Amino acid sequence: MILIVGAGPTGLTLAIELARRQVPVRIIEKSNQVAQRGRAVGVQSRTQEIFEAMSVLQLPIRLGLPVVGESHFVDGKMVRSTQPVVSNTAPYPNMLALEQNVIEKTLVQQLLNLRVSVEWNRRFLGLEQNENSVVAQLDGETVEVDYLVACDGANSAVRRAAGIAFPGKAYPYLFSLADVAVEWDLPLDRSYIFRRQQKTLGMLPVARPNQFRMWTKDLRSGPHSGPSDDEVRHGFVDEQPPDLGEFQEFAGQMVGRNITLTSPRLICNYQIECRLAESYRKGRVLLAGDAAHVHAPTGFQGMNMGIQDAYNLGWKLARVVRQQVPAELLETYQKERRPIAQEVLLQTDEAVENFETPRSVGQQLMEQYNVPWWQLEFHYRSADQDGAGGKGLQSGDRAPDGEVLSPQGLVRVFQLLRGQEYNALAFPGSDTSLRQLHALARHRGVKLHVIGPGNYQDPNDTLRSTYGVGEDGLILIRPDGYVAARGRLDEAARVLAAVGGN
Ligand SMILES: Cc1cc2nc3c(=O)[nH]c(=O)nc-3n(C[C@H](O)[C@H](O)[C@H](O)COP(=O)(O)OP(=O)(O)OC[C@H]3O[C@@H](n4cnc5c(N)ncnc54)[C@H](O)[C@@H]3O)c2cc1C
Repeated sequence: MILIVGAGPTGLTLAIELARRQVPVRIIEKSNQVAQRGRAVGVQSRTQEIFEAMSVLQLPIRLGLPVVGESHFVDGKMVRSTQPVVSNTAPYPNMLALEQNVIEKTLVQQLLNLRVSVEWNRRFLGLEQNENSVVAQLDGETVEVDYLVACDGANSAVRRAAGIAFPGKAYPYLFSLADVAVEWDLPLDRSYIFRRQQKTLGMLPVARPNQFRMWTKDLRSGPHSGPSDDEVRHGFVDEQPPDLGEFQEFAGQMVGRNITLTSPRLICNYQIECRLAESYRKGRVLLAGDAAHVHAPTGFQGMNMGIQDAYNLGWKLARVVRQQVPAELLETYQKERRPIAQEVLLQTDEAVENFETPRSVGQQLMEQYNVPWWQLEFHYRSADQDGAGGKGLQSGDRAPDGEVLSPQGLVRVFQLLRGQEYNALAFPGSDTSLRQLHALARHRGVKLHVIGPGNYQDPNDTLRSTYGVGEDGLILIRPDGYVAARGRLDEAARVLAAVGGN
């Protein structure tokens, strides 16, 4: 049994990943329902791919608004503008604007479909652990489980009970946001950064007619006093929010064109911190999402990072509790996910400290990738692996999408990879015999897809070239869609052994 504490996007994703692999799981939540105020408002491209694989993308696509790029204005003049990069290898080129509570409701429903209910109104209080189990104290119950995963947010009680430090800093700034309807002459499906006289206004469309989320720093006052106790103050602050008039006046000055704000749905202040857990695991307790890392929402990344933590951890925990592989596999969770959080903390910290200067996170990402948001560039190459710094698709890279032809028509690679376990793409040469390969794949529990004569067709060798295959090749793909190992077909035993176990 696995116990998940916290039913935010991270905990819900992890619960689904375990439940769809038939791993017994409980998920507890101290609130009585999904939060009413949605903090995050954007689903990144990589998260959309993950939602497709988890069969939860349909509703977000129907309700969300694709954000087709970002425009930067300085002193009222547009200085930069991005367009989505459409490619067969990445099916979701736009960030999808959608509120966090809609995403959470979608995940709660999918979990119910898998016959797991969130236990609302149930609070984690404390824990003790030994080599074999964790004993958790909940209100009204003591429970013994194999692993406990902290998905209980920035102020994680689990992290404290496990004695894992959360070093970092609190910013002495007060940010403000407003979710409002906007009337102006600029497109409603792009995001914007406006800079003027050391001030910045950010605007992201949300999935409601004419609505944007607007945000800025220290709208009303100067530096804000930081926290004086060890509480992590990361989120909404209820005291003295600005009003619509203040936002209207500020927006008018910043955008330098006619703009009218109406129908405020949410106007509030928020504080943020920048912290990273010293370790993502202590014995049988693991941390994920905001319990492991918090940073500024600049770049719209926190919720997405938590979902991707959970997606990385879910299949590994499942394999370990089913005793398919030794518990050492769990070490790769921190090894792969913590450096990514470290990088995002650095980027967002630079953006917060230079909020008034032109190098926002959006701008940094645009300079690097020429697109405003992706999270497709995250990879799990390890520094010590062969050719880690080289070009071409390698172990640890995200397996790209593509198309192959079956007698029924075009099939996307992501459709082939859907499921819960390892997949392998085999690209045979002209006279390769595949009998032994099929037997090896069966033995390792790997679903084999042959791209070649008599099987899936690869017109113009497009997929072959995407996957960087020469004469022949075998690509082993992990259950979370990253390349586990690759080689020639005569190296199949080595490649498939990366599945682990016997
Ligand atoms: C103003 C703002 C804007 C943001 N915008 C974006 C954005 O656009 N894009 C983005 O990706 N991210 C954004 N974020 C970040 C995003 O909201 C968080 O990263 C995300 O909510 C983290 O998800 P989580 O599940 O890890 O934690 P949370 O969402 O915090 O969920 C933790 C859950 O644990 C529960 N819990 C806590 N303690 C206990 C306990 N003792 N027992 C039981 N349950 C407990 C809580 O009630 C909560 O439901 C924003 C954040 C802020 C503050």
